[in-house]
Amino acid sequence: MDASMATVASLHADHSRLFTLEGHSFRAVYPVLSRRSGGLSVGINLNLDKGCNFDCIYCQVDRTVPGMEEKRLPLLETVMEEIGLLFSAMDSGAFFRETSFGSLPREFQAVKDIAFSGDGEPTLAPSFRELSRAVRQFLSGRDWGGGSPPVLRLITNGSGLFHRETRLWTRKTFLEEGPGEIWLKLDAADRHRFDFINRSRIPFERMMQGVDQVVADLPVTIQTMILDYGRPGEADSFTAGRDLWDPLLAKVSGWDKEGARIGAWHLYSVARQPAVERVRKVPAERLEAWAREAASLPFPVLVFP
Ligand code: SF4
Repeated sequence: MDASMATVASLHADHSRLFTLEGHSFRAVYPVLSRRSGGLSVGINLNLDKGCNFDCIYCQVDRTVPGMEEKRLPLLETVMEEIGLLFSAMDSGAFFRETSFGSLPREFQAVKDIAFSGDGEPTLAPSFRELSRAVRQFLSGRDWGGGSPPVLRLITNGSGLFHRETRLWTRKTFLEEGPGEIWLKLDAADRHRFDFINRSRIPFERMMQGVDQVVADLPVTIQTMILDYGRPGEADSFTAGRDLWDPLLAKVSGWDKEGARIGAWHLYSVARQPAVERVRKVPAERLEAWAREAASLPFPVLVFP
């Protein structure tokens, strides 16, 4: 592997929220190299308090260390200041000179998206609407030199979108006012696996009813994390198999038959070791075999092992 591809591999595995540039320690905005975005992704963390109504076993967020109380930081000003600093440093070249992103091959250096993601569920953050509007205005107001602006992306477990008003806001801000996408989590479509993997406070039936409504109303990309847990023979261990996959495929096929606008389905596995050590990456062949089973669906089923 040459040095630049080694940097790609290393940055794909590093989605740290800690980022320093030109002596400024960023608190809510962080650049990463994203496998699924296909280049640089500028993440926005609205959940500095680490608030989430899921507790996924594969979550990267270490909740044994408390987050910051939201009221301690003026989030709107912080996010917009940090986005401004980051893009200015990209324009001046300082970003690539000062960070390991400068060692990437050129095709990986383009900013593909600004993504609402972070340490919790962004649609539940009190500042979600205010911040998504401000970032959309930033994207619309900036000169992209004749190229396409980055996509405004929402990465969500969907729960904030159960509320009609938030769905309407999201449709307008993310999808109608410029290029945007909603990436919706669906890790399990049966109660047993949902409870085990997502460990949500929301009951399974309510969750499925809610995501059905989201998918009926909004175009989405579906993202499914597939993982094994523990070693065979150990207590609670499982290997992701047909009992996980068949309900997932039935669910997504059902949405498709009902007319859902699904742009793509991402089947992916862990790229970075989560806080829960027993979580294990699944072999690429298993994801690829399942993607082949879903090949008759009228949208791409993409594998990110
Ligand atoms: S929904 Fe996202 S932030 Fe929340 S626990 Fe799951 S992976 Fe972590």
